Amino acid sequence: MNLTPEMKAQLAEQKKQCIFCKLIAGEMPAKTVFEDGRTIGMLDIYPALKGHTLFMPKEHYPIMPYLPGDEFSHFFGILPRLSASIMKAMISTGVNVFIANGGVAGQQASHFLVHVLPREAGDGFFNFFFDQRKAKISEEKKNILQHNFPTMMANHFSRNPAAWHQGAGERPAFLKPSTVLYEDEKVLVSLPEKGVAEGHIEIYSKEEKDFQKLSPESASHLFFVASFAATAVFEGLGAHGTNIIVKSGVSDDNPSGRLSMHIIPRKQDDGLKLQWEPKQPKYNLDEVVSMIKDKTWEINVVKKKVLVEEPQKVEKKKIAPHDEIRKAIERLH
Ligand SMILES: [Zn+2]
Repeated sequence: MNLTPEMKAQLAEQKKQCIFCKLIAGEMPAKTVFEDGRTIGMLDIYPALKGHTLFMPKEHYPIMPYLPGDEFSHFFGILPRLSASIMKAMISTGVNVFIANGGVAGQQASHFLVHVLPREAGDGFFNFFFDQRKAKISEEKKNILQHNFPTMMANHFSRNPAAWHQGAGERPAFLKPSTVLYEDEKVLVSLPEKGVAEGHIEIYSKEEKDFQKLSPESASHLFFVASFAATAVFEGLGAHGTNIIVKSGVSDDNPSGRLSMHIIPRKQDDGLKLQWEPKQPKYNLDEVVSMIKDKTWEINVVKKKVLVEEPQKVEKKKIAPHDEIRKAIERLH
């Protein structure tokens, strides 16, 4: 995203007021569980569930589209490993990743961040229970998404949309009545007939059933496609904001345990209760910090080892993640 001088000035002003920038700079105490050169993870001090962690780039970006390519790849590439650490620390069977784009979607801070929630059966958290779907997509809106989304993807990958769309195979059993909007080697993007909101898009990985097992390349590709889907509903359907929610592993609201990603268009007063009420924990957060740190420390060790063994990866490339992903995919052919 290219910023105008006005936008840059506005961002600098926003950054001065940002509580997360203060926490990152150490001006306020944070419950930090992970840190590398560009990323930080800290416990939410009003957790929805025990082990609820916020991960964010250290640099101040107000929303997802502001993240430059290399930052985007790094941040979303490392997220499965961070989620795995939290799951191990909390001995959980599942995990959710929750992103709020816009105040209407529940974004509370101006610093871009993601919520990682460890999940298990019986944890009493039903905000992401998507079985009861009442919002049917109109033919008009379906046509808009059916046209816009594959075109956006094809333009970015400089390919013919028909060459990308490989949806001629058998429909996977888990897909409810839906339209396949886009498909490539890694993901399948589906528009169900009924969603929790009109234009609810689902994305499935064709590689892994568990989020925490995704490779960095596959994870950043998944979020890259999700950010396009969020843009498509924002621009094409006139949504005021979006939620991006990853479900993975067994919990009461995900009995199959399958990895799925949900892009939910949001509007003012749409009545959806995806956000939770802030509440003081009844346990000691510092104990949770040490439980999680006990599992995240090895991520930096593994990263260093990889860098030593593969020196070409240390080289800093100034290319967008889209190009990196495209090249990675082309190598598969
Ligand atoms: Zn900030």
